[in-house]
Amino acid sequence: MQGKDLLQLADQFGTPLYVYDAEKIQSQFNRLIKAFSKVEKLRVNYAMKALSNVSILQLMKDMGAGLDTVSIQEVLLGLHAGFEPERIFYTPNGVSLEEIEEVYALGVQINIDNLSILEQFGTKHPSVPVCIRINPHVMAGGNTNISVGHIDSKFGISIHQLPHLVRIVENTKMNIVGIHMHTGSDILDIEVFLYAAEILFDAAKNFKNLEFLDFGSGFKVPYKKDDIETDIEELGKKLSKRFNAFCTEYGKDLTLIFEPGKFLVSQAGFFLTKVNVVKQTTSTVFAGVDSGFNHLIRPMLYGSQHHIENISNPKGKERFYSVVGYICETDTFANNRRIAEIKEGDILSFHNAGAYCFSMSSNYNSRFKPAEVLWLNGKGHLIRAHEKFEDLLQNQIPLQIEATV
Ligand SMILES: *Cc1c(COP(=O)(O)O)cnc(C)c1O
Repeated sequence: MQGKDLLQLADQFGTPLYVYDAEKIQSQFNRLIKAFSKVEKLRVNYAMKALSNVSILQLMKDMGAGLDTVSIQEVLLGLHAGFEPERIFYTPNGVSLEEIEEVYALGVQINIDNLSILEQFGTKHPSVPVCIRINPHVMAGGNTNISVGHIDSKFGISIHQLPHLVRIVENTKMNIVGIHMHTGSDILDIEVFLYAAEILFDAAKNFKNLEFLDFGSGFKVPYKKDDIETDIEELGKKLSKRFNAFCTEYGKDLTLIFEPGKFLVSQAGFFLTKVNVVKQTTSTVFAGVDSGFNHLIRPMLYGSQHHIENISNPKGKERFYSVVGYICETDTFANNRRIAEIKEGDILSFHNAGAYCFSMSSNYNSRFKPAEVLWLNGKGHLIRAHEKFEDLLQNQIPLQIEATV
């Protein structure tokens, strides 16, 4: 899709607006499938926390994806979108035994990531097929907020606790069908990933009834020009070969699972905002837009750089701008960024706005959340309306105090 399409959508639906390009989602999905075409049984489970609109979930289902969820509410949304329970995977962190039991009762594959719950669940439900999340302690993340494989991480069962883990499984006679790892976002070095995979293979040999190995995600996508990204094709070539050799050694064709979020939807998304004010100070030119970290928090939370394009004036002479929001706290989207000359009323398009953008939005400052549009077959389909004043009041209960005087 092109700048002029986005401009037309901003005009038609108003700003701020999220737009997702279905074709891009499909092409990323196909790219992953193709990279791993040498693996007999491959399954791609979409990590829906990246972008959880039900229409996006339906699109994923139609492409043949499964679903990766982290809460019972995500499971319910997935079922609502029409996923079969057996195509849904539940990988929570630090949730209660009760929630895990509720999800299991829905027919969803559960993944347990600590020894305490594993022992409790295995004792009560020894025949239920369970997957175990291992922490291989490999530093594969691109930044400390999202590296979940290191030694102090709260995620997964430490690989150093494998003997204890095996003991629990033997004592409870529970049914372990899968081993999982998710080392963290942003895999840049394929050798590091393959090293973590070896740790997973080693752990897997301890369990006799496995059906799948789940390698999580962490595929890095480019956020700016000439940015580095995970070489999916090289990973596909090397990991497929190693995986197939492992299956031979194990004596069974296991299913290889990935659960990408960002890789599937990040680049498909655009966030459209309107410039309310251009403000020149002694040192900086600010472009203030009709949004803030209430709608897109990644630059402030992770320091991530979203490329920003002035689609109202794409050929304009480039100048330096700091793009800021309207929230009553510092909310800088971009510092001293080269952008084609901006006038008040112009539409700025933020790239890579598909993953962890709308799904992390809030009503802070009592602002409405943006609408969402899916661009499909050359046409924009509204898949979430702009909020209204009543939405801010929903679930609030006016205090009723009886007059005492
Ligand atoms: C968030 C998450 C993912 C998806 O990570 P991306 O970097 O968006 O691909 C996959 N698996 C688990 C368990 C997650 O928590």
